[in-house]
Amino acid sequence: MAKLCLCLTGKTIARNLEILDRYRSFIDIAELRVDHLDPDERFSIRMFPEQAGIPVILTIRRRIDGGLFDNGEGSRVSLLSKGLAFAEADRRHNFAYVDLEEDLEVPGLEDAARTFGTRIIRSFHDFDGVGDDIVKRLRNMRRVGDEIVKAAVMPRTLSDVSRVYRIAAQTKDLEKILICMGPLGINTRILANRLGSHLSYASPSGEGDTEKASPGQLDPRDMAELYRFRSVGEKTKILGVTGHPLKTTFSPMIFNTVFNHEKIDAVYVPFPADDLEGFLELAREIKLLGASITVPYKEEIIPFLEETSDVVSAIGACNTILFNGEKWSGINTDTSGFSESLLSVMNRKHFKGLKFTIIGAGGAAKAVAHEIFRLKGKCLVLNRGAVRARDLAHHYHFKWGGLDSGSLDLMDSYSDAIIQTTPVGTFPNLESDPFPQYPFKGSEVVMDLIYNPQRTAFLKRAQAGGCTIVNGFDMLVRQAKYQYQFFLDRDFPDQLIPRLKLWAGQ
Ligand code: NAP
Repeated sequence: MAKLCLCLTGKTIARNLEILDRYRSFIDIAELRVDHLDPDERFSIRMFPEQAGIPVILTIRRRIDGGLFDNGEGSRVSLLSKGLAFAEADRRHNFAYVDLEEDLEVPGLEDAARTFGTRIIRSFHDFDGVGDDIVKRLRNMRRVGDEIVKAAVMPRTLSDVSRVYRIAAQTKDLEKILICMGPLGINTRILANRLGSHLSYASPSGEGDTEKASPGQLDPRDMAELYRFRSVGEKTKILGVTGHPLKTTFSPMIFNTVFNHEKIDAVYVPFPADDLEGFLELAREIKLLGASITVPYKEEIIPFLEETSDVVSAIGACNTILFNGEKWSGINTDTSGFSESLLSVMNRKHFKGLKFTIIGAGGAAKAVAHEIFRLKGKCLVLNRGAVRARDLAHHYHFKWGGLDSGSLDLMDSYSDAIIQTTPVGTFPNLESDPFPQYPFKGSEVVMDLIYNPQRTAFLKRAQAGGCTIVNGFDMLVRQAKYQYQFFLDRDFPDQLIPRLKLWAGQ
């Protein structure tokens, strides 16, 4: 089973020990990144394994391999020797591992490591993609049989990531570490057991003065408790969410919390994807059971589906897909999630007699418009690109307009509720308001589908104007309940909802 390794990139030994203590209960191994230490501190590394009280990897990474060390090979070898010198009979006081690059050949160093039980991790880093020769390279890079081979590669596409899973299947006999760096490779860190990796690396979030040792590393607590990466086995169901850039999704928190609570052998993984076909190739490779689909792929996914629900066919947007081993089917749960959330805020069973404005005309707006129509409401659709507003509005005989002052008069009478469906106001442009010209009257119910931040600039302005406001978190949970049912054919445990809200700061 893969171990979890905490990368320590503090500037001092004392700082690293402090961080280690904070994360000790989540990890199995620590990696001392000597290249991140202040120069004076580098002379004190020999004592670190004893001070740490946990198996430690000694690593001095050069700049060309993604590290900070640029004092030349002579001084790097001398520092490595210092770390391995004066080995003690009690192996817990020695470094448990030393990371030596593929091209480093210093027999004295290797012999010293072996004599005192320090295992060698023989590594290479490739920031230019996934080379064609990796299987051969992994097989040939060991100097002696007991070395652990490691390849850390930067995929250019999700297709590259799929190849890494195939490489893992072809090298099952090797004791190895395989990692795809960067956002596209996050799944390889969580699914380290699927790759047969000896360990997976993690870096703390929220330790302001330390850097992530490598791009894409997750926080150790999330790896251990949220993703339960140690328990991922051959039979674990893999689910996830894909989108781009997929930076602010709360779905992994929702699903993994439920899996954990219900003791379901499943993990929900974020798959940031810059192309949908690459994602679907990876999905087949890792036997993904199902996925949530988010911005910008809700419409683009439809041609890849062999079966779609009536709602997906009606609105042309899908946010949930399921693979039955042969084909993909898709449903849309944003629809019910949205209407249940707004009906609950308005304390109603339908929208008859009410007039709404939808801001935006993308995938989410399609789900919103469908529900307003189904529940007998009337609607005005306003969008930056007016043609898109017109196309959506025509479908339901709604009114439409541009997102500008010219629409204000009409909006005045379509203001029982205003539903903001654009990404405007989310990270990084937290101060942005999609329609600053609109003066709130105070009588409107204002819903923003964004839930992170909790209150967008638009919602804050509505609240200050006396309106009833609601963000998209309630909708997110409500639609996730339908996804959960679709994925696993089980009912969502409603008693967990307060805990999810607390976690999300809602
Ligand atoms: P989408 O299909 O990409 O549509 C984006 C919409 O926003 C389009 O109408 C677009 O207008 C508009 N827009 C984008 N940037 C804009 C800007 N700078 N100024 C004005 N308008 C802008 O995205 P989506 O799938 O509909 O998702 C939209 C938002 O809803 C996202 O933030 C998503 O996270 C959120 N959402 C939340 C939930 C939930 O459960 N709470 C569910 C679904 C979606 P143009 O047509 O002019 O480009």
